[in-house]
Amino acid sequence: MEKARILVQGIVQGVGFRPTVYRVAHGLNINGYVRNLGNIVEIVIEGQNNKINEFITSLQNNKPPISEINSLEVEWLDHKGQEFNDFRILESSKNFSGSSVIPPDIATCDNCLEEVFEVSNRRHNYPFTACTDCGPRFTVISSVPYDRIRTSMKSFPLCEDCEVEYANPKDRRYHAEASCCPVCGPKVFLYRENVIDSENPIKKAAELIDEGNILAIKGIGGTHLVVKTTEDGPVEKLRKRLGRYNQPFACMSKDLKTVQTFTDISGSEKNVLESRRRPIVVLNKNNGYMLSPSVSPYLHNLGVMLPYSALQHLLFTYTNEPAYIMTSANMPGEPMLIDNREITSKLNGIADYYLLHDREIINRCDDSVVRFRGNEMAFIRRSRGYVPEPYDFARISEDLNVLALGPEIDVTFSLLKEGKCYVSQHIGDTTKYETFRYLQEAVNHMMDITRTGSVDVVACDLHPMFFTTKLAEDMSQDFESEIVRVQHHHAHAASLCVDNNIEEVICIAADGVGYGDDGTAWGGEILLSHGSSYERLASLMPQPMAGGDLTTKYPVRMFMSMLYNHIGDDELVGLMKTGYSHFFKHGEREIDLVLKQLQKGFNTNTTTSTGRVLDTISTALRICGERTYEGECAMKLESAAFYGENTLKIPYEIGTNRGKDFLNTSNILISVLELIEKGEKMQNIARAAQNAIAFGLAEMAIKAAENVGVKVIGGSGGVFYNEAISVAIRNTVESAGYTFVQHKNSCAGDGSVSMGQAAIAAWKSQGI
Ligand SMILES: [Zn+2]
Ligand SMILES: [Zn+2]
Ligand SMILES: [Zn+2]
Repeated sequence: MEKARILVQGIVQGVGFRPTVYRVAHGLNINGYVRNLGNIVEIVIEGQNNKINEFITSLQNNKPPISEINSLEVEWLDHKGQEFNDFRILESSKNFSGSSVIPPDIATCDNCLEEVFEVSNRRHNYPFTACTDCGPRFTVISSVPYDRIRTSMKSFPLCEDCEVEYANPKDRRYHAEASCCPVCGPKVFLYRENVIDSENPIKKAAELIDEGNILAIKGIGGTHLVVKTTEDGPVEKLRKRLGRYNQPFACMSKDLKTVQTFTDISGSEKNVLESRRRPIVVLNKNNGYMLSPSVSPYLHNLGVMLPYSALQHLLFTYTNEPAYIMTSANMPGEPMLIDNREITSKLNGIADYYLLHDREIINRCDDSVVRFRGNEMAFIRRSRGYVPEPYDFARISEDLNVLALGPEIDVTFSLLKEGKCYVSQHIGDTTKYETFRYLQEAVNHMMDITRTGSVDVVACDLHPMFFTTKLAEDMSQDFESEIVRVQHHHAHAASLCVDNNIEEVICIAADGVGYGDDGTAWGGEILLSHGSSYERLASLMPQPMAGGDLTTKYPVRMFMSMLYNHIGDDELVGLMKTGYSHFFKHGEREIDLVLKQLQKGFNTNTTTSTGRVLDTISTALRICGERTYEGECAMKLESAAFYGENTLKIPYEIGTNRGKDFLNTSNILISVLELIEKGEKMQNIARAAQNAIAFGLAEMAIKAAENVGVKVIGGSGGVFYNEAISVAIRNTVESAGYTFVQHKNSCAGDGSVSMGQAAIAAWKSQGI
């Protein structure tokens, strides 16, 4: 006989880990006990050496679906004769330090769905059915340890039947904190001015949607606005009421088979779509696409997800629609609505009916969005189903706590604790008061559930005027901690390094805009990033921006700026007046004004942004003349190029200024104009222009890598969501013999910036 103590770390609490241990031990007739010790599960067992090894293997093979084993240590103890007569689950030890990792919300499991659809089951048709293997976690937890009294389930005491399941280690609902049933759990109801009496509110909701109404449906971690997709009318109505005329809406379909009727879906996309994390996957439309074109206007793709709660599964049993639009219910730029009173007051005039329930949402968590580039996945938004699962930071001292507050618009924050980086759910645009408040609440909550009292370093952007920078300054005073200001694209590069577990990279950081260390607006950078230091080796050609930020909304101003000084003023004005004056908000007279602005250099900060160049090409090709949502013009350019043929070639030229290479983007634009003049097809020109930018960026990166002797080149920033650009850069870099890395488990865009800031702050304090 031997005795062993096994310590398991990872996501092992609130996920049915102890009952699994119990079942495995019973199955092998092994005696001992299991208990929680803070973030560790401790198992002590006695038995024959081979039995103990069999136990360990079996535990690893049978671990609960939501759990994650990060480490499993076995310590062989002195065995002084038989000590245990059975196997038990002991009470959690009260004196523990350290944080337990809270699991994310997980889609309803097959066992629960079976119950929901089985007529004789006591949970038949019950929309909140959940068990240890599935259901809400992060969104219902207010503090730790994870017990029912510290969740929004505390208002729903277990009934007798549920109590029996909860107390039985052999039951799937043993200690399932979100477990409930029609007798004891939350209830769903239909509302419009008053509660509407209905035998089956979910069925009624589906009928109302199918009649063309807009419904606000409160779900697990947030609220959706829902309309049918097979007619333009309801979609247009939703667009009008929201004032969101172009932005693509995400959809939900009943199952994979239905999704395949209107999209092309690859094997890897399918796996993610059906995974228990259930993100929105951006998929290409197929030839049979039959949803309203208004769902994602002028784009070749759309975001689709599958039901992840029993409520959603039930909803789809009552409709024959192939998909419903399911878009986050929020006011523009503000956080998603989660409180019944707020939902009904703020969406008054937008939603026709409300399907609500009486369980509180403690943490809102928007749907995650992923997109594939070739076979590689990237997050556009990493939120529900993933957060708060931390990233492991190698080489970081366990004692160092860092809070990083991210950029300004597409904000997440990150909390680094004990070498683990908790990147928050999607927070959003912090220039909006409500969102800024949400950021503060979410920070406090994350500190609570990770048991973090204080931090040693607060990290933020280099931009002095961001609200997140100001908050960082306040918090660093409160915590009496150091503040580290991080350049935006360096943060991109650092997040890429963390995601790929490397220390050094030549990073192509290509995005909309980030504040450069010279005070100009960067966004097409070749950086050598090494730990907490970086060097800017090359970039796109610095371009004036006539009217500063106005160029973002009206790329035609950028169009004039990029041509200014490259063609004559008269020619420039002539071109604008004959072909593009309708893109100027104030028509022709604005054209003269912009020229004066450029001549005098008034309000014309310079930029190396790749996003601005792609927007401009989109405008030059008359694809998109006004940006009404983030990335719009560049996304529509990508969709046009998607349908283009690879028949044209646009040359690109790399120049040098003060020892730094730059890609001449004005020349690329002039070539685009020449091809338009020649009557070439718009889609083919779009494709050639994207290629020129991709090859130019890749060539500068390869040259930089050669010069400094670095073998790894990477890509980060929103431009790397563009599949064509991203694949072209990868191919060019790899054919030159370099390794190419991209974001795999993190956002390519600004959602990862806070993680990069946290990494740089930590490396800096450790001299890396
Ligand atoms: Zn379940
Ligand atoms: Zn019950
Ligand atoms: Zn960025």
